[in-house]
Amino acid sequence: MCADIMNLEKEIKRLEKAGVDWWHIDVMDGSFVPNIVIGCADLVKATRYISKKTIDVHLMIERPENHIENFIAAGADMVVVHQEATKYLHRIVSKIKDLKAKSGVALNPATPLETIKNVLDEVGMGLLMTVNPGFAGQKYIEAVTQKTKDLVEMRGKRKFLIQVDGGLDFEKIKNLSGLGVNVFVGGSSSVFKKGARAEKVVREIHKLAVLRQL
Ligand code: ZN
Repeated sequence: MCADIMNLEKEIKRLEKAGVDWWHIDVMDGSFVPNIVIGCADLVKATRYISKKTIDVHLMIERPENHIENFIAAGADMVVVHQEATKYLHRIVSKIKDLKAKSGVALNPATPLETIKNVLDEVGMGLLMTVNPGFAGQKYIEAVTQKTKDLVEMRGKRKFLIQVDGGLDFEKIKNLSGLGVNVFVGGSSSVFKKGARAEKVVREIHKLAVLRQL
């Protein structure tokens, strides 16, 4: 959602050259979140056509269960659904697995971790929103730092990745990486910041966020 949408192919090539590790595609329906942005199965398909990198699709939509197959067929490696958007979290996670993709569960800042406790054995990734989803350029919500610590503790010996999304600058990335977070979504606060040089930003993030052996 933060890329230059009129030049997506150029943007993808520019950022891959700069060293980004994977693509995070935001999908919004104007209902689960107040905004609508470009983000649909066709966009995933187009990205897959250009890139071999991991693609995770962050579904900020009501009834995500109706759309999972389309996104996986379009080439998504991982589909992330919000706990708040469905009554059938366990069923969706199993369905994603059956379709041979990795699953992720996402939580808005105010949603407690207990609500995903029962699916943590099944998921490939837990996504903690560090802003309220819907818009780029928002300020990081400090209370989520404690929540990431709690999720790292809940993970214990499990292998799932922990991802954070929203308002991340270098300082936050360094801090969260130290706590055990593995995946950082770069948007208008980092790689797409006005005037930022992507190579420099990615190099810095790689220095700060050491990939841990899980
Ligand atoms: Zn996202």
